[in-house]
Amino acid sequence: MEEGGLNGLDFQHASLCTRRAWLHMHRVDYSHLDERMAYGTALHEISRPRDKSTRGLFGLAPDRIDWKNRLVVEAKGRGGAEEAVGRQTAFYALLLWVATGRRWKAGNEILETRRKREVPVNDGTVEDMIEVAEELIEIRKERIAPPARRKGLCKKCSYRRLCWGTA
Ligand code: SF4
Repeated sequence: MEEGGLNGLDFQHASLCTRRAWLHMHRVDYSHLDERMAYGTALHEISRPRDKSTRGLFGLAPDRIDWKNRLVVEAKGRGGAEEAVGRQTAFYALLLWVATGRRWKAGNEILETRRKREVPVNDGTVEDMIEVAEELIEIRKERIAPPARRKGLCKKCSYRRLCWGTA
């Protein structure tokens, strides 16, 4: 996966929308225009600023690492997009598994409700992530972004202005 130059957020976007994944991988960013994203970022900073546990991870950017218990944690403002967020977090756990030769656990913290959610990391996760990585590499090769297709997510997506011209 590292060879493909993919990051955790690519896996999150791929689970939600191929166009969104393409835009993100080609560095098209509309998040600074989005109130929801600004709210999420502020909540994130207030609730749990990134601590020192993730220093020295060479580009990996989970929110927190419990080195003793081999647990990687990604915090999110709200509890939506469970599978997508889970894949982002599993990505970090798998890379740490490869780097250390020992299995890692993963979890999400939902800041708004203070709930914790376990993310499975097992052999099935490895197969799933390889499949998504292959899809991402194919999506990235496309010269232009896949066409926009309406879905429930669009009204909350930071790219909605680009795709649909709506605020
Ligand atoms: S607005 Fe909809 S179609 Fe456009 S990137 Fe977001 S989810 Fe995909």
